[in-house]
Amino acid sequence: MKARKRIGLVAHDARKADLAEWVKYNEGTLSRHDLWATGTTGRMLQAQCPSLDIARLKSGPLGGDQQLGAMIAENRLDVLIFFTDPMSSQPHDVDVKALTRLSTVYNIVLAMTRSTADFVINSPLFQSADYHRVIPDYETYIQRRQP
Ligand code: PGA
Repeated sequence: MKARKRIGLVAHDARKADLAEWVKYNEGTLSRHDLWATGTTGRMLQAQCPSLDIARLKSGPLGGDQQLGAMIAENRLDVLIFFTDPMSSQPHDVDVKALTRLSTVYNIVLAMTRSTADFVINSPLFQSADYHRVIPDYETYIQRRQP
């Protein structure tokens, strides 16, 4: 991974204030990286932190989660900070699952709790180019015989 990380930021409605607070607190560090967010999260973060340059995707339920998933599949995202709401069901639950699943498939850095996000952003690896992300080898799967 390069020192300048490519970071996705997403929060469900009940967690948006939490993420905004976290981003504000870490604004200086985050300003040295490339940031993307789903639509509504991005609008709120941008209002809170005008100095940050946050690229806005579609709103999560309207395809934003899937846009982030595509970035992961195409090796265009290193880190996903994803604050989900554990207390309510989401209309786009399948997209949420797809996004977390692809994060696992491609072994990107995924923080789904604020504590994990704190550990991630304070890791020396966050600012360095020293980390080599192992992407599992899916060649056998790709080349498998058709039944
Ligand atoms: P939003 O989407 O930022 O547009 O609210 C977040 C989500 O995926 O629920």
